[in-house]
Amino acid sequence: MKNVVLITIDCLRADHMSCYGYHRKTTPFIDNLAKKSLFFKNAFANGPNTRHSVPSFLTSTYPLLFLQEVKTGKFHKGRKSLAELLKEKGYSTSAIHSNPYISKFYGYDRGFDYFNDFLLGQVEDEIERGRISKTLHEAIKGFKAVFMHKLPHEDGQRINKEAFKWLESANEPFFLWLHYMDVHMPYVPPNKFLEELGLKKYSHMKKIWMGKKIDDVKMRKEIKDEEVPDYINLYDGCIRYTDWMLKNLIAWIEKKFPDTLFIITADHGEEFREHIGLGHEEKLYDELLHVPLIFYGKDMDKKTIEKPISLISLAPTILHFLGIEKNEWLQGKNVFESDDFVIAEAWKKERITAYRDDEWKFIISNQGKELYNLKEDSREQENLYERKERKEKSQEFEKIINNHIKMLEEERRKRKTWLQKEKIKKAMRRMRR
Ligand SMILES: [Zn+2]
Repeated sequence: MKNVVLITIDCLRADHMSCYGYHRKTTPFIDNLAKKSLFFKNAFANGPNTRHSVPSFLTSTYPLLFLQEVKTGKFHKGRKSLAELLKEKGYSTSAIHSNPYISKFYGYDRGFDYFNDFLLGQVEDEIERGRISKTLHEAIKGFKAVFMHKLPHEDGQRINKEAFKWLESANEPFFLWLHYMDVHMPYVPPNKFLEELGLKKYSHMKKIWMGKKIDDVKMRKEIKDEEVPDYINLYDGCIRYTDWMLKNLIAWIEKKFPDTLFIITADHGEEFREHIGLGHEEKLYDELLHVPLIFYGKDMDKKTIEKPISLISLAPTILHFLGIEKNEWLQGKNVFESDDFVIAEAWKKERITAYRDDEWKFIISNQGKELYNLKEDSREQENLYERKERKEKSQEFEKIINNHIKMLEEERRKRKTWLQKEKIKKAMRRMRR
């Protein structure tokens, strides 16, 4: 295959998609596509939110490889992204999205010939420079939402439009990364898509008000349990909308560039009070980690794969399909060679690490240790860690986690040396000139 279109949907948990068994027909287009694809039933993000997961899957490295990223948000140079690797191989590279965590400001444009994060010259910059206050910004945002139907992120149709514009004059082969925010809170789907799911309509004002409540960290905590089903309706409506948009996108690209590999996945899922919270905080339960993963394209194997795999395998798998040899900067193995368990991690004051295979989940955090049998308790509600008969299992998983942490420390050291070497080489090239 020649070209690559990587489609990532922010906050899309797999179990809310009909192709992953959801009771509502949220993804009719993707369901159909999945039948013609290499379809991963058990794919997991290696981190529970954008800032943990995106740097990880873009570079096939673990989220906590460089801890300074947790503080600064800056994309570390010790990770090499798929865009950089493909650019070196002669690909034209482009990224279009509107998530500020992965903006140019934080260095995520590295490796992209064209990078559009829609953030240039926006209000956020003004606040940073101290020109306007946060309160005024909130007021402007509220005004725009109510009177101009303006969302805090760009609509997926706008992303598509920008993609088509770039593709009109793109040189092949290309790597295009599109990241959609339509499933992210404040969840404001057009009513048409709620109706298609057989759900009630919500007035625009009601949607904006509900959105404001869930978008605000303090107000979010006050949302009552009985309000949650309404949020789930809206979330599902957003998924139905995104499915419709992707249909248009893929049809357009496929017609113009038949030799294209499409990948559909998500950076993480979303919690609806399964473990007290709403949204995507630093927790490692399946509602936040289980994501879709679909490889679609000409001559692609039509197959469903049950083995648990994680997004660290994404970049190596793309290289595998392009016939490009794996690079030493990538930590993960492709999906055909990867282990049968996955490791996820996040930082919340301290490290939180999870081991997951097709039966067990084991989590270590500063809150203690948790063990869940996913075959009997898929919602991870009953912690079996204290059970004597489960002690051996826990020890086995804890050892794997400890080895993982040691491996990351070594990798960190190794990469620092690589970066030093690159620096020296660059300086020498400059001297020769
Ligand atoms: Zn995200």
